[in-house]
This record gives sequence, structure tokens and C-alpha cells, in this order.
Amino acid sequence: MSVSKVYHFGPRGRISDVIKGQRLFEVAGLNECFNRGDSVAIKIHCGEWDNTGYLRPSIVAGIVETVKEYGGDPFVCDTTTCYLRSRGTGRDELLTAARNGFTPQTLGCPFVVADGPYGLNEVKAPLENGNFLKHAYLAEAIANADSLIVLSHFKGHGEGVYGAALKNVGIGCSSKQGKSNVHLFQHPIFGVLAYEFHPEKCVGEECPIYKRCGENCPTGSFTISTEKPYPRWDRSTCIGCYECGLRGACEVVVQPEANTRRRYFPAAISDAAKAYVDYMGRDHVGFINYAIDITPTCDCVPYSDMHILPNLGVFASKDIIAIDMACLDASVQMQAVPGSRPYDEELEGEPWKAGHEKFTNIMRIPVSQWSSVNAAIKLGLGSADYELIEAIPGPRERYGQKKYREHHPSYFTRKPFSINKPRFEPECYLEDIKVTLEELSGRPNAKVTRSG
Ligand code: SF4
Ligand code: SF4
Repeated sequence: MSVSKVYHFGPRGRISDVIKGQRLFEVAGLNECFNRGDSVAIKIHCGEWDNTGYLRPSIVAGIVETVKEYGGDPFVCDTTTCYLRSRGTGRDELLTAARNGFTPQTLGCPFVVADGPYGLNEVKAPLENGNFLKHAYLAEAIANADSLIVLSHFKGHGEGVYGAALKNVGIGCSSKQGKSNVHLFQHPIFGVLAYEFHPEKCVGEECPIYKRCGENCPTGSFTISTEKPYPRWDRSTCIGCYECGLRGACEVVVQPEANTRRRYFPAAISDAAKAYVDYMGRDHVGFINYAIDITPTCDCVPYSDMHILPNLGVFASKDIIAIDMACLDASVQMQAVPGSRPYDEELEGEPWKAGHEKFTNIMRIPVSQWSSVNAAIKLGLGSADYELIEAIPGPRERYGQKKYREHHPSYFTRKPFSINKPRFEPECYLEDIKVTLEELSGRPNAKVTRSG
């Protein structure tokens, strides 16, 4: 197996993560993924409504600027979810993205829902020798771009175990149908039709979504009656699309413990990732992983929870396996943040310790954090052998906020506060200093009561 290069900036230092991403883009040669004038899709996860863990818009804007500098024509994109929450339709995703800070104004280029207003705009991407899939469905706007730059937030994931480049491509670049397929929801052996149905668990009108439950089923297979048992699920017409979310939270529809769908799902992610990377062309895809704000679960949930690891830095590579390997290795080597999810009492062993697999150990089912990577290696999607190269900061004149050092000449001649008419105002100060340094030091003598 060849050795792939992964470039890295550690988390410390007086360089912003925006600049680290821009610098790594260059040293990893991601500018070679496109030619001048090419359309460049920059894939991000714009975050669920009320989630706060996703990559900051300024980080993405920095990459947009760099792509433009190299002559690319960028657009930033995400895709709809296969269930109906705040990103279930193109319209909702645009609203959620804007609330989370992703707009043409903040990004410096269009923000596009790559699989269209209803998640149906897709291209069938062939896949040879997949682990589960024969083909996958790539969001159309990405398929039509000349190049794909994948910006991923490294964190945990409720089903994928961890989320980074493989997940951002395999799931994140899929249309609705593609996502449903990759989740194995329609698999004949362990898809949703093999789930258990417990209508007696439905609490009827006491449920906050009682009136809406079932109304989003495209085939009318899941309905709510006014009489007990309230939920009705017609499996003969159910197409396993998962738009209903299958009522897992209320345990009306549950995956049996022996069902292995969730344990295989991380491997199916790699099937789709292989199909999409090959569709775009390996020389036309580049990756940057930001291992910062590392939350225990994905940015697709409406919360973020406490970070489980300190920031591990920013990574860039042209190899989708090598970059995820480097992030996972770094996460194993680091001790978890005290009080975070790996310290929860119900977990076995001591998953917070350096040397332990944090993401494997915080999962509620037995599934390895290496599943996606191992499946991708089997598919020949890249190399697990990598050389980790510590990047050095770029020249100050290139990366030092140059945009804001080029002030317009009128800045120096404006009247109210001009360097030609400087304001010097010693009379604004009191003659005596009314506070001592001792008074400013130490914790205030305040009482705290706790309740609840
Ligand atoms: S099936 Fe579940 S979500 Fe739907 S009304 Fe009943 S309790 Fe609520
Ligand atoms: S009941 Fe079946 S067809 Fe209806 S939304 Fe749920 S998964 Fe889709």
C-alpha cells in the first residue's frame, strides 16, 4: 500500500483555524484538484437547527477565498436529510443554513442545496465490488461540478460512530434516496421492514407530535388513528424511506437487538464514498478535516453536548482514508475532556483514557470506530498508511489579514476621527484611581446555591 501524505496544524499557536485551513489547502496541493475557471463544489455540513458544533462560516469563507485565488468558481453546498427535520427540504435547509450563518454574504459565493428542493436531484453513480451497494445516488449539483473540496468537522456520530471525510462524502453528498440506501433502510434482511412494531407504546394525544405523526409518509403507510391502537403501519406499502423517522424515539417502531443494520451502516458509508470519489475523479477531490469542537455526536442533532476531546488541529490530504485515519489516531492518543461523555458512569472500562477508542466506547451498540475506514481500505479507496507532516505557517504578508490592511484611502481623511485631526483627551480620566489591584483580584465573596 502506498503512503499518503496528511498535512497537519496542531491546535495551539497564534494562527486562526481559518488561516490553518487556507494554508493546508495550499501545502496539501488541493489547488491542483481544479483548473482555472472550473466549478468547485465545497461540501460542508451546515448544522441542524439549534446545533452549535458545526464548522464556523468564517472557516468555510476562508476556503472560498483560496479557491477563488486559484481561479476556481466555488459554491458551498450541503444536502437534504432523508427524514423531515430542519433540513428535510431545500427550502428548510436554506433557512437553517442562514440561521447558522451560511449565506452568500458570509461565504462570498452561493450556498446551494445540492440535491434540490426536495432532495430528488441526483445522479446514479456506479460502484463495482461494493460491500453492500451496487450503485449510489450523488447529489446533482456536486456531480455537475468539476471538482469537490470536502470540509469536514471531526466528531462523533450516533450511527457512523465518528464523522469526518468518509461520512461527509458517503452520506453528506448523497441525495435523499442515496441516504436512505446507505443507511440500509431498504435492505431486504435488516432494513426497516424487519423492525418491530409496538403500537401499544403510542401515548396518543399526550404525544407532542400526535397531530402531525404520520402525515409526512409519502405512501400513507404510517397513519395515526383517533382510536387505540393509535398508530397503524402497513408494511406492505412501506418503502423504507425513513421520512417518518420510524418513531424510534417513542419506541413504537424499534430495531430488534439482533438486527445488525446499525453495525454495518458505517461500512455502507464507504461504499457510497467510493462511488462518489470515483465519479468525480480521484484527482478532482480534496479533503480538509477540522478536529475542533469535537462533540460526541453529529452536527445533525439539535444540540451539541460538551466537547469530548480537546482540539486536535486541522488536517488536509488528497486521500480520504489517510485523513480520517490521522484524526482517529490523534483522538485515541489524547485523554478525553473531564466530565464529558466518555466519563459517563454507564460506560464500561475507562474510555476517557489516552490509548482508548473514545468513539467506539461511547456508542450504545457494539460497533467499531474503524468500521468505515476498514471498509474503505477493502474497497481500495485510499491508503491507511500515511505520513503526518506538520505544516509551518505561511508568509505573514500572505496570511496576515491582508484584506483588512488594505484600507481605502478615505479611512485616513474621514473627518470625525481622522489621523489628520487626532483626538487626545486626558480630561476624560478621574484624577484618582478609585479601585485597587487587590480589589480586582480573586473570586468575589459570593454565595452560590444549587437546586434541581
Ligand atoms: S407513534 Fe410515537 S411519535 Fe407518533 S403519536 Fe404515537 S407516540 Fe407520538
Ligand atoms: S412508514 Fe415507510 S414509507 Fe412511510 S415514511 Fe416511514 S419508512 Fe417511509
